[in-house]
Amino acid sequence: MKQLSFFTEENMDPRPPMSANWNLWHGCTKASAGCLHCYMYRRDESIGKDPSVVQKTENFDLPVRILKSGKNKGLYKIPQGSHIWTCFSSDFFHPVADDWREEAWDMMYERSDCSFFIITKRPERIAEHLPENWGKGWEHVTIAVTCENQEMADLRLPVYLSLPLFKHSVMIEPMLTAVDLQPYIEGYRAEDGSPVIKHVSVGGESGPEARACDYTWVEAVHKQCIENGISFYYHQTGAILIKDGKLYNIPRKQQHIQAHRAGLDTT
Ligand code: SF4
Repeated sequence: MKQLSFFTEENMDPRPPMSANWNLWHGCTKASAGCLHCYMYRRDESIGKDPSVVQKTENFDLPVRILKSGKNKGLYKIPQGSHIWTCFSSDFFHPVADDWREEAWDMMYERSDCSFFIITKRPERIAEHLPENWGKGWEHVTIAVTCENQEMADLRLPVYLSLPLFKHSVMIEPMLTAVDLQPYIEGYRAEDGSPVIKHVSVGGESGPEARACDYTWVEAVHKQCIENGISFYYHQTGAILIKDGKLYNIPRKQQHIQAHRAGLDTT
C-alpha cells in the first residue's frame, strides 16, 4: 500500500477541493424495510436492467486517475482535500464486492489527502472486511450505518458501535418509525466518557410510493442528540410528512429546504 506519495509541502495541489461521487460498483440486493423503494431499483427497472446484479463500474479507479494533459498534467483528477461520496447505487459491504474491496481500500489509503464517506446497511460484514492496517480507524474515512426503524437500530447498532471507527455516524433514513437511541447513547461510551455516536442524520422517504414520516419522531431523536452533545442533521422531510396531526405532501424540490427551515441542524 502506498500513501500520499504525490503531494509535498513544495508541491501542493493549486486547485480548490471539490465534492465528488465515486460509484465503485453498481447493483445491490435488498437488505431490510428501508430498501423497499430503493431509487436504484426504480431507475434500473425503468430501463429494463436487473438491479440485483452487482458489477464493478468503469469509474472503479476514479480517485487515483491522473490528468494526462493540460496545466495540471500529472496531478490526480480529483483535487487534494476533496470530499468523496462512495457507492450511491450499491452497498460498499455487499458480499459480491468482496474480491474488489481490498483494491478500493488501497485507493482510499493512497488518497488520504481526501475524505471518503461510506454508508452501509450491512454493519455485520464490516469487521471481517476492513484493511489490515485499519487500526482504530482511518481519520479520513467515515463509515456510517443506516437504521430506518427501531428494529434495525436494535439489530445494527450493537454491532456498529462496537467497531473500531474514527467516527461513528448513524443515519435514520428513510425514517419509518420512531427510533429511541438512548440505550445506544448510554450503553456505548468512548474512552473520554462521551457517546460513541458522534453524528446522527434523519430524513423521510422520497419518491412516488413514499411512506410517511412523523415529525414528532424527528424531534425526539433531535432532543436525544442535543441533550448528549451529538451533532444532528435533518436531511430531508420526505414526500409525506405528518406534523401536528396533519398529513402534508411535500414536493421533491422542497423536501431538503423545508427540513433545514425546521432549524434542527447543528452542523
Ligand atoms: S442497501 Fe441501498 S442500494 Fe442496496 S437495495 Fe438497499 S437501499 Fe438499495
